[in-house]
Amino acid sequence: MAEAQPNILFTREAIRRRVDELAGQISRDYAGKELLVVGILNGAFVFMADLIRGLNVPCRVDFVRLASYGCGSVSSGEVRITKDLETSLAGREVLIVEDIVDTGLTLSRLVGVLRERRPASLKVCAFLDKQERRRVPFTADYVGFSIPDRFVVGYGLDYDEQYRFLPDVCVLDQVR
Ligand code: 5GP
Repeated sequence: MAEAQPNILFTREAIRRRVDELAGQISRDYAGKELLVVGILNGAFVFMADLIRGLNVPCRVDFVRLASYGCGSVSSGEVRITKDLETSLAGREVLIVEDIVDTGLTLSRLVGVLRERRPASLKVCAFLDKQERRRVPFTADYVGFSIPDRFVVGYGLDYDEQYRFLPDVCVLDQVR
């Protein structure tokens, strides 16, 4: 069977420019503070690696991995932590980094769980945002690009663990 051919939505150059802008904005907002950047595995690792290298405030990093009960590309909202953070959030300026906000269920649940750990502040930076797909109200504090309801891969985002390595963000129309 022939492999699905992804079409480019954002080139690596456009991504680089936007990620640098985001890093600049975050650096200004957290001037004089130290950040704990929390990446959601696996999708956010490429974005997070570029983002933190554009920061000019000190930062620590940690990662969380979540399992969503549900099937295929549909999120159920039941979020379970399968790999927890190793850093205490108490009193820290925490920035969660996610690849994409879709229904909003994952992030609204995770923010609720992490808020109970008493960080000094808790914000969310999402690389992509599909606002029209929301099932619960959720607004990220920083967004790379808003996108229409298309299934995207590349720059860390996968389809069945494929395509994460692509340097551009591409649409995989065959998925929906
Ligand atoms: P939600 O906001 O629906 O709870 O879930 C967000 C998660 O759904 C993302 O972290 C990602 O794993 C997955 N997701 C949603 N839309 C897409 C997409 O277009 N492409 C990929 N690769 N994953 C997506």
